[in-house]
Amino acid sequence: MFFENLLLATGNRGKYEEFRAILPESFVGSLLFAPEVGGLAVEETGGSYAMNAVLKAKAWAEASGLPSLADDSGLEVAALGGLPGVRSARIVEGTDEDRNRWLLSQMEGRGDRRARFVAALALSVPERWTLVCEGECRGRIAEHPSGGGGFGYDPLFLPDGRTCTSAELTAAQKDAISHRGKAVRA
Ligand code: IMP
Repeated sequence: MFFENLLLATGNRGKYEEFRAILPESFVGSLLFAPEVGGLAVEETGGSYAMNAVLKAKAWAEASGLPSLADDSGLEVAALGGLPGVRSARIVEGTDEDRNRWLLSQMEGRGDRRARFVAALALSVPERWTLVCEGECRGRIAEHPSGGGGFGYDPLFLPDGRTCTSAELTAAQKDAISHRGKAVRA
C-alpha cells in the first residue's frame, strides 16, 4: 500500500514530527499536517483511544477527501487508577510543564510509579475502509523531569530497560520503543 498524500489528523507538532520520522517512504509520499490543510474541530467523545482515533481519522477523511491517519494516545499511571488516560492532553489546562507539575504532585509519597503510554492509530480511506492498530510502552514515572526532547510527559517517563527519560532519548531511540512506533509498525 502506498499513499502519495496522507493527511495526519493532529494539531500536535510533536506528534507530526514523530510520524514523519517513523512512516517509511515506501508507505507515504507526502505527510500533510492537518492545520495546514484546513480547520476542523473534532470532539473526542469516544470512550477509548481507538474510538477517538477512528472519530478523528474518519472526520478528516470525509472533510478533505484524503486518506487520513489519526492517533489518540495517553499516559496511564497505575497508582492513579489509570489517570490521566484519555484525558492526558486536557487533565490540566495550560502547558506540558503545568501537566508535568500536576503529575509530580499526584505522585508524592507513592511507592508504585508504574505507568504506560498507549496509542491507537486509525487510518481511514474516504468512503472505503478504516483500520485501527494499537501499541504500548511500559515504564515508570521519574522523581524529577529531565531531558529536552520529545513532548508532553516525556521528561517524566522512564521507559522499562532504560535509565533515562523518553525526553533524553534520540528521536530514533524513542521511535524504536514507543507506543506510537509500535502502533505504526503493527
Ligand atoms: P491526544 O492523543 O491528542 O488526545 O493527546 C495525547 C496526550 O498524551 C498528549 O498531549 C501528551 O500529553 C500525552 N502523550 C501521548 N503520547 C506521548 C508521548 O509520546 N510522549 C509524551 N506524552 C505523550
